[in-house]
Amino acid sequence: KSRALSLSGRIGSLELPHRILMGSMHMGLEGQKDKLEQLCDFYQERARGQAALIITGGAAVTPAGGADNMYVLSRDEDVEALAALPRAVHEVGGKIGLQLFHSGRYAVSEEIGEQPVAPSAIASRITRETPRAMTLEDIEETVLAFASGAEKAKRVGYDAIEIMGSEGYLLNQFLSPVTNHREDAYGGSFEGRMRISIEVVRAIRDRVGPDYPVIFRMSGFDCMPNSTTPEETILFAQALEEAGVDALNIGIGWHESRVPTVQQVVPRGGFAAVAGAIRQHVSIPVIGANRLNVPEVADELIADGYLDFIAPARPWLADAEFAKKILAGDRAGLNVCIACNQSCLDHTLVRPHLPVSCLVNPRAGQETLWPMVKSHASRKVAVVGAGPAGLQAAVTAAQRGHDVVLYERESELGGQFRMAGRIPGKDEFYETIRYYTEMLERLSVVVKMQTEPTIEELSSFHHVIIAQGVVPRIPEIPGRDLPHVVNYAQILNGEVQVGNQIAIIGAGGIGCDVATLLAEGRHAKPAVESFFRGQQLPEPPSIPREVTVLARSNRYGNGIGRSTRWVVKQEMQRLGVRVVMEFQCREITPEAVVGETPEGAVVIPADQVILCAGQESASHFAEQLAERVQVHVVGGARESKGINAARAIREAFEAAYQI
Ligand code: SF4
Repeated sequence: KSRALSLSGRIGSLELPHRILMGSMHMGLEGQKDKLEQLCDFYQERARGQAALIITGGAAVTPAGGADNMYVLSRDEDVEALAALPRAVHEVGGKIGLQLFHSGRYAVSEEIGEQPVAPSAIASRITRETPRAMTLEDIEETVLAFASGAEKAKRVGYDAIEIMGSEGYLLNQFLSPVTNHREDAYGGSFEGRMRISIEVVRAIRDRVGPDYPVIFRMSGFDCMPNSTTPEETILFAQALEEAGVDALNIGIGWHESRVPTVQQVVPRGGFAAVAGAIRQHVSIPVIGANRLNVPEVADELIADGYLDFIAPARPWLADAEFAKKILAGDRAGLNVCIACNQSCLDHTLVRPHLPVSCLVNPRAGQETLWPMVKSHASRKVAVVGAGPAGLQAAVTAAQRGHDVVLYERESELGGQFRMAGRIPGKDEFYETIRYYTEMLERLSVVVKMQTEPTIEELSSFHHVIIAQGVVPRIPEIPGRDLPHVVNYAQILNGEVQVGNQIAIIGAGGIGCDVATLLAEGRHAKPAVESFFRGQQLPEPPSIPREVTVLARSNRYGNGIGRSTRWVVKQEMQRLGVRVVMEFQCREITPEAVVGETPEGAVVIPADQVILCAGQESASHFAEQLAERVQVHVVGGARESKGINAARAIREAFEAAYQI
C-alpha cells in the first residue's frame, strides 16, 4: 500500500483526505453548451475515483487570454456553465478547484478574434504570431480580471482556485527575460518581471478573503535558454508565499521548449528534484506532476520530502479510479498512462482541436456516451487476435457481461505493443499489456494462446470480433527476396541478427523507431536518465553501426504525433542516424540500396536492409464467417492505411461495447 500518498493533508483551509490530486487538463469539451453534460460526467467519475481535489482545465480570465473552445470568465453565460462542474463533483462528495488562465502570446488571433497580447512583442514559436505588447492599462485590467475570475469561482461553488503561471503562458512570459523585454515597472529587473504575478495574487486574496485556498502553478524550470534562473525561481516561490498563496504546483517546461517534459523518454518522476529544491525554501505545500503515473514512484517522492502532493493529469484519463485503486493498494488493477500523448495532448495540438480522450481508455471524456453498464443480454463472443485492439475488445465485452474467448496465434499477448515496448524509451507499453492481462483474468475471459480457431469453432459464437491487426507490407522492389532483406517485425521480435551497415526503407513512425533502436543499442536508458538528473549527456554510444533511413518524401517521422515527433527526430540526430530525403528506391543489391533523389542517382551501401514500408491488414475469416455469425472487423485488420494504436483500440472498444 502507498503509505505517504494515503496521509491526509491540507492546502490552506482545505482539508484533503490524501495526497493524490487531479491536475488541470483541457478536455476539448469546454466552452460548448452541448458538451457540458459530458464535461460534468467526466469530472464526476474522477471524483468518484477519489481525487482529493480536481483542478479543472483553464478558464480564461479575459477573451484575449483564451482559445476557441475555452470558458471565459468575463462572460456571464460561461460562468453559469462553469457552476455546473462543482455541482456535479460535490454531488458525489468530491472537491474541485478552477484554474484561472491567460495564454498571452500562445493565443491564436484566429481563435480570439484579435491580436494576442504579451509582455513584449516577441513572436511565439508555436503560433508564429507576433503579439502586441501590453500597455499599463492592459496589465491593470488583466490583474483585475484574475481577481474577478477568482471571486466568481468562489461564488459559484469552487473549493479552490489555481492561477496558471507556468508552461510559458502569460504570467510566465512576464517572469522570463526571454519574453519580457519591457523597460517599465513590469520588466527589467527580476522584481519588475514578477510584479504582475504578485499583484494578481494580492488582488485575488483581497477579493476572496484570507481563508479561500489559492494555488499558484509556477514554472519550476522553463527549459528555455537564458530564461529565469534557479535562484530567481526560488525567490519567486518565496514571494508568492509571502503574497498569500497556499500551495505551489510546479510546472516544467514551456510548450515551445525543446526538452522533453511529458513524453515517454522522460523517466517516471524525472523532474521531482526541481520541485524538491523549491520545497526546501518555502513552508507551504508543493505539488508535483510530470510523469507521476505509478504509485510506487510518487509515494517515495512524498516520503523522501520532494513533494507534498501529486497532481498528475493524464493518469486520470487512463484510469478514472487512479486514486481509489492506489489507496486500496490495487496496483495490478491500475490502467497506467503510458505517456504516448496520442489521444490527449496530440488532440489539443491539431486544428481544429479534437476532443481529448485516452489511448488506453477510450471512454475518457466520453463517459456520457458509453456508460459502463451491463449489456441487456449476455452473448458468446469470440475475439481473434490479442494485440492491443483484441485485448481491448475482450476486456470491454467481458465488462459488458458477455462470455468471451480470446484467441491468439502467438505465444505472448500484446501484438504491436510488445514490439513497440522494445524501442528505447517505450517500455511503458508493457504496462498496458500487463493491465489487459490482469483484466482478462479478473473478468474470466478464456484465453487460448497459440491457437488459430477454425471457421466451425467460430461459428458457435453469437459475435466474432476480428482483431488480427497488421503484417509488414513488402514493397515491390527488385531484390526484396535477398537474404539480407528483413522486415521490421523480424528485427523487433529479435528473429534475426542485426547488421552493421543498415539501410531502412521507410521513414514513418516505425522506420524512425527501428533506427533509434539500432543506433542506440543498449545505451538508451542511461543516456536519457542522466540527462534528466541534470548530468552531462553522454556521447552517443560508439557501436560500430551505421544507420541510414530512406524517406520517400521530403519529411520523416510522419504518423508520429506532434507532441512526440520532434523528440524522436532530435534523438535520431543525436545518434547520428542519416536520413536521405526524397529517395526513390529502384533496387536492392547484395551490397547496397540503389535509388534516386532529385540530385541524381544514389547508392546506399548496406549489409542489411530493413523494410519499414507500411502495413497490410491481416484479416482472415471475416468473409467466410459473415453468413454464419455477426462479425466485427476492427483496427488494422479492417483498414491498415494510417492505422495507429489509438484508432485500433477505439474501434475495438466501440465494437465490443455495442454487443
Ligand atoms: Fe496517457 Fe497516452 Fe492516455 Fe494520453 S493517451 S492519457 S498519454 S496513455
